[in-house]
Amino acid sequence: MFGIKISYALINTALLLAAPLAYFYKKIADVLALSSCLIIAPILIFLSKVDPVNTLLSILIFNFILAGFTRYRNAMESERKGWDLKLKKEEADKSELLEELKSLEGAESNVKESELSMVSLYEVTKKMSEDLKFNDIFNVFSAFLKGNFNFRNCDLLILNWAASSPRLERRYSVWQKEEAEGLTGSGVNYETLIRACTADPKKIYFSRPADNDMFETLEIRDPEIRAYASMPLVSDNRIVAILTVENLPREELERFIILAMQFALEIKKVLLYETVEKLATTDSLTGLYVRQYFSERLGEELQRSKRYKLKLALLMIDIDNFKQANDTYGHLVGDVILKSLGAILKESTREIDLVSRYGGEEFTVGLPETGTDGALIVAERIRKRVAENIFKAYDEKLKITVSVGISVYPKDSAKTRDLIERADKAMYTAKKMGKNLVCEYKK
Ligand code: GH3
Ligand code: MG
Ligand code: MG
Repeated sequence: MFGIKISYALINTALLLAAPLAYFYKKIADVLALSSCLIIAPILIFLSKVDPVNTLLSILIFNFILAGFTRYRNAMESERKGWDLKLKKEEADKSELLEELKSLEGAESNVKESELSMVSLYEVTKKMSEDLKFNDIFNVFSAFLKGNFNFRNCDLLILNWAASSPRLERRYSVWQKEEAEGLTGSGVNYETLIRACTADPKKIYFSRPADNDMFETLEIRDPEIRAYASMPLVSDNRIVAILTVENLPREELERFIILAMQFALEIKKVLLYETVEKLATTDSLTGLYVRQYFSERLGEELQRSKRYKLKLALLMIDIDNFKQANDTYGHLVGDVILKSLGAILKESTREIDLVSRYGGEEFTVGLPETGTDGALIVAERIRKRVAENIFKAYDEKLKITVSVGISVYPKDSAKTRDLIERADKAMYTAKKMGKNLVCEYKK
């Protein structure tokens, strides 16, 4: 009996020794279970007030149940922890995915946006290349600018390199807001701008207050201008034009440059077209229209006159005794006279009149919306001015006269060729009548 008591006591002591170990698990249930061994077992066994076997058994059962419960609870706990971890991971994955989705959405809208701007850029350049006149191209360009960019004013400065340094030849301007259209400029000194731009074509964008010195250099005093961009448009290593834009946000600059580059191509095309057109339509000596172009334009004017029931007069002008002048002073002097006569004809007519060097020393003038009376006045004015003018050529000073013939639509003919022929006939009548005269066509 004593031996059994001792073995119970040993088992119980083993259980007692296990109690401190439970501490390391830090599980309250384990600590309680084992402290029951630690406190209850010694008291009951060593004081022998109860049956040690029953006591030990009940303690063991109690401990087993508690240990089983603890184990189950621990298992549940670790499973929950596992789930928590999984959940946390899933949540991290989810936020990562959301992040990715957001950036994808951003990228998609960026793509859409740039796709849109590319489409509109394509549309605008397509429209621009359909027109070969500066005004038309600039109208397309400015409409696109107004709709797609934030800015105050945009100027296109066309440069002329006829002199040693570039000069401003023409300026096209577009204001974003209608109310600003009354303004003619932003007080920018274009000569200074052209000089600065040709000296340093790379510096294209500056804003206040960081680049205040640039505003000073370009003499841009208007405080309303907070940012300024000037883009040189280059052709054959030469700045042919400068595109300037006020108050364009920096983030829109890149898109603006793409448009400007496309626009530069169109400008080059137009400049080339203008040069070719000028060569084809104007006489190099006098700067007047050539015969072919004059005939075409006269045909168009005749159509317009028919449509709107307007009159159209034609003058044929021939220098009197020019052969003699040539023989006396030489062809070079003769050429200067032709040039000076061209200038007199331009000065004596309106902007809408068509003035041409029809051939050698013959000139024609088309006078839209003009009848016989008006034509006689213009012809007489020309005849008089020529007769009174002293032509200076090299060291020579000489006087010449002209004979002028007039034909008028609809009185004399409704065909271009007939009108020219009849003005020519009238001019020969003037020659026959003694030269330095004006004659209208008579059947
Ligand atoms: P008319 O009063 O009858 O017109 O006499 P004209 O001597 O002027 O005779 P015509 O009109 O037939 O003269 C043509 C002359 O014009 C021939 C040529 O010497 C001169 N001429 C024609 N083209 C040029 C040119 O490009 N330069 C120069 N210097 N002379 C030209
Ligand atoms: Mg002649
Ligand atoms: Mg002549």
